[in-house]
Amino acid sequence: MQLGRLCAGLFRERKSRVSVEKAERLIKEEQVSRVEKPSREEAERAVQTLLRWAGDDPFRPGLINTPGRVVRAYEEYFRGYNEDPYELLGRTFDETEGYDEMIVLKDISFASHCEHHIAPIIGKAHVAYLPDTKVVGISKLARLVEVYGKRLQIQEKMTAQIANTLNAVLEPKGVAVVIEAAHECMTTRGVDKPGVNMVTSRMLGAFRSDGATRRELLAMIGNPLGS
Ligand SMILES: [Zn+2]
Repeated sequence: MQLGRLCAGLFRERKSRVSVEKAERLIKEEQVSRVEKPSREEAERAVQTLLRWAGDDPFRPGLINTPGRVVRAYEEYFRGYNEDPYELLGRTFDETEGYDEMIVLKDISFASHCEHHIAPIIGKAHVAYLPDTKVVGISKLARLVEVYGKRLQIQEKMTAQIANTLNAVLEPKGVAVVIEAAHECMTTRGVDKPGVNMVTSRMLGAFRSDGATRRELLAMIGNPLGS
């Protein structure tokens, strides 16, 4: 099936600056807005309120345990807040011993939630870097996607966060992150467009400045930007 696509390649043409700045601002806002957690009981009562808002009776047998389940599900959906992505990458890296080829982990599946509707974002991420002196275990790249995915997200911000973290910790010659995802807030409500995939990318260093390096990567991951 041919998927419709909204391309928001952050490195491309004139739009790039605006998108990058927006992503930076969102990352900054998030750092200053951590709040105190409510109790489990408070959280369950909030779910009861939403069930009543939906028009149902939270005390009927089928729904009586739903608030507890939803609150436990939230612990899974949002467990990324409990992990420090810098620490995750910082724990293990080695010398490259002269390896200077692109390292690519493609098709990393993830499930996130949009911060506007708390609706699922289901997609896959491709993460690549060109090492300088440090490399990281390949599984850490998948864990990094997981840590940022298990938070409230917008796709542009998640893309930038993964790229910025890798860039800061590994200080590589280049970093590229491309994410393709379907947003259930678009497919099940609002504009109601099933089958639409959004593609975002963040290219740093050699992936940004060197067209050949970028094209090599995009060919490896199946040209999701359509270029
Ligand atoms: Zn949304």
